[in-house]
Amino acid sequence: MNIHEYQAKELLKSYGAPVANGVIVLNADEAEAKAKELPGPLWVVKAQIHAGGRGKGHFKEPEAGEGGGVRLARSAEEAAEQARAMLGKTLVTVQTGEEGKQVGRVYIEEGADIEKELYLSVLVDRALGKVAFIASTEGGMDIEAVAEETPEKIVTVPVEPSQGVTDEVAEKIVQGLKLEGTAAEEGKKLVRALYKAFTEKDMAMLEINPLIVMPDNHIRVLDAKVSFDPNALFRHPDILELRDLSEEDPLEIRASEHDLSYVKLDGNIGCMVNGAGLAMATMDIIKHYGAEPANFLDVGGGATKEKVTEAFKIITSDPGVEGILVNIFGGIMKCDVIAEGVLAAVKEVGLSVPLVVRLEGTNVEKGKEIINNSDLDVISADDLEDAAQKIVKAVKG
Ligand code: ADP
Ligand code: MG
Repeated sequence: MNIHEYQAKELLKSYGAPVANGVIVLNADEAEAKAKELPGPLWVVKAQIHAGGRGKGHFKEPEAGEGGGVRLARSAEEAAEQARAMLGKTLVTVQTGEEGKQVGRVYIEEGADIEKELYLSVLVDRALGKVAFIASTEGGMDIEAVAEETPEKIVTVPVEPSQGVTDEVAEKIVQGLKLEGTAAEEGKKLVRALYKAFTEKDMAMLEINPLIVMPDNHIRVLDAKVSFDPNALFRHPDILELRDLSEEDPLEIRASEHDLSYVKLDGNIGCMVNGAGLAMATMDIIKHYGAEPANFLDVGGGATKEKVTEAFKIITSDPGVEGILVNIFGGIMKCDVIAEGVLAAVKEVGLSVPLVVRLEGTNVEKGKEIINNSDLDVISADDLEDAAQKIVKAVKG
């Protein structure tokens, strides 16, 4: 789960990270009063969307005015005007794709005097099996580009879980950032604060780009991007409250309400599968036969008829779906339950695209019988390969 920049900053501030003062504007009417809460002389107006690259982005609507999603203002009135211009408009950045994202919240914060822009992030390094810091002197830009062009400017510092951030770890990171004096002292404190926040709140990723050094050699978190491990959210009700549903795909929200693991993709073959491994294999084989999956969907091991029905409805509500492949291995889950779920769903929502069903495992005969005895126009398949070939053929005609 992702949160907005202003939420991430508030959270990091509570851990002692140096963050500027700011105000959040949710509707145009309050923009001016909110902007006046900040003393100036420089205001920065920042569109809040769950995507980076806002500064270099552009708005689709000409009424949003010149410039991207991060703009400077010299007065509270001007800041308010910029906030009003951005609200409700569509911001396109390298991370949003062509369709862009609608701006529902604008953050206005104190402008900082920037001497240097640095990069600092924390993530779970799966290869090392540890939390690691990534530090670079090349902040403010795309870190992937830095990694490609000047990899020597990026340092990775893993943290031993039993020891946490030791003096040595903090020192290495601060050196990687080339901080000195006050900035180095503040940098070490920041590293400890970030590690504490990361582990206590079960973050998946925390990225500060840029972390800045100001002319007085103090540092400040200027941008913050945080995402959380979805499997740990149940123990962080405070974090769950930060969720902004308008940033999420409506189908994914519906799926999560029914405890289905669903990720929408760009292809045209909808997949209903049980088990993450089988779901991945199904997507792979669809690609292998020359088509693209429209989604990842794992209905889980012990799915009920209702859950299967809901899953089917979610797949068919995706306008990109031109064919459906149901691929179930009945272990705990029984094939006849799946078959009944599919029938119930088709009765409810109708079926306007080809459907291939491959069942295997517990009660497979009963399941096939239910499908075959129905008046549904279902293509049945015997194994994964057969199923994939049949659905690709049905879609491509
Ligand atoms: P994004 O990464 O989405 O483009 P950032 O928050 O990183 O958004 O802002 C882009 C750039 O705007 C920063 O690299 C920095 O140069 C400038 N900027 C952002 N916030 C401030 C601020 N409070 N004061 C001064 N400059 C800022
Ligand atoms: Mg940034």
